[in-house]
Amino acid sequence: MSDSKDDRPPTHDKPATRLIHAGRDPGAQNGFVNPAVTRGSTVVFPTLAKLKSREQPYTYGRRGTPTTDALEAAICELEGGARTILLGSGLQAVSTALLAFVEAGDEILVTDSVYQPTRVFCDKVLKRLGVHTVYYDPRLNGAIEELITERTRLIFTEAPGSQTFEMQDIPAISAIARRHGIWHLMDNTWASPLYFQPLAHGVDVSIQAATKYIVGHADAMLGAITANDRASAKINAIKEGLGTSPGSEETYLGLRGLRTLDVRLKQHHASGLNVAQWLQKRPEVVEIMHPALPGDPGHDLWQRDFSGASGLFGIRLAPAPEKALAALVDQLRLFAMGYSWGGYESLILPCNPCTARTATTWPPPETGFTIRLHIGLEDVEDLKADLAAGLDRFTAASHQHTG
Ligand SMILES: *Cc1c(COP(=O)(O)O)cnc(C)c1O
Repeated sequence: MSDSKDDRPPTHDKPATRLIHAGRDPGAQNGFVNPAVTRGSTVVFPTLAKLKSREQPYTYGRRGTPTTDALEAAICELEGGARTILLGSGLQAVSTALLAFVEAGDEILVTDSVYQPTRVFCDKVLKRLGVHTVYYDPRLNGAIEELITERTRLIFTEAPGSQTFEMQDIPAISAIARRHGIWHLMDNTWASPLYFQPLAHGVDVSIQAATKYIVGHADAMLGAITANDRASAKINAIKEGLGTSPGSEETYLGLRGLRTLDVRLKQHHASGLNVAQWLQKRPEVVEIMHPALPGDPGHDLWQRDFSGASGLFGIRLAPAPEKALAALVDQLRLFAMGYSWGGYESLILPCNPCTARTATTWPPPETGFTIRLHIGLEDVEDLKADLAAGLDRFTAASHQHTG
């Protein structure tokens, strides 16, 4: 765990430039471009005086290493926070951040479009600790104020929402949270700190499932919490108490992935929009959930607050039997089926948001399957050809009569 140790004066470098240099000092690495991977638990002290002085920058592996410091400093700089801490997964970042602010008797407001395992944490763990979760319609925006009571401790947002991609008015919600003296936590995984900076929009704590775009290669699990000044003491205390720390290899893979985030995201953005616009013309697709698409209900908010889109969006298909869905997904050549996203490769995942919702509804699968697509870095024409063949199989299987 480290304060951002960068004493250099702030520069006007653009994010793409800062991404390359943040958290990196070749002079301190024997000239090597990248930091070494520090593997370690025990740190030794040469004298009793040193042991007691608490002056050594590192005291124990769990409390931070030069490798974790490097990635924490880099993410902190991009998020514009006071402090970043790394954790072993995105969900651990979510649960640690939530635990930092609540106590028995509190109520929290969580968007109904939240990442489903976050919901499980609220309903199974926080509930046992006496914390009550109130789910709200992700499109409430300013009207969320009516849900705040004296017991409300925090608002949790995620924009766009997991699987359903509703945008939220983050600055409006931040202003309300401030006015009521409560915290605003946001899961910012979709945009990454390159395309949205929650703290600059009034959010107190920004959470990244770094597993996704920061690692970027589907080869490690990692999470990050970045807090402003006001919130960081609480985050530090819970981290110390829970004793969580990420692995050294995973941290290094996060650093390595981060350096190419800008070029990767530019391609995910362009190819994602290209495929989404192409899907708009396919008769099998009845709805596209992609905030960067003109006409999407969240488009104006996205355009106002975000500087880009990632490669993840949703579609709803025309009503069809399950065998038609199987015909689509089972024989794709390039799109693999699997959880997670944010790697270089394209993914497809049928989902069923209607079962997880309590404050809002989502159409059930019988009225058309909901599918999540992650558009990877393959050639976009190849990806569209793969999907076109899949949608043709879907149509053929929809019309096939079973005896
Ligand atoms: C994947 C994901 C997480 C959890 O990250 P893990 O590293 O898989 O634990 C949290 N929030 C969002 C929005 C995600 O997509």
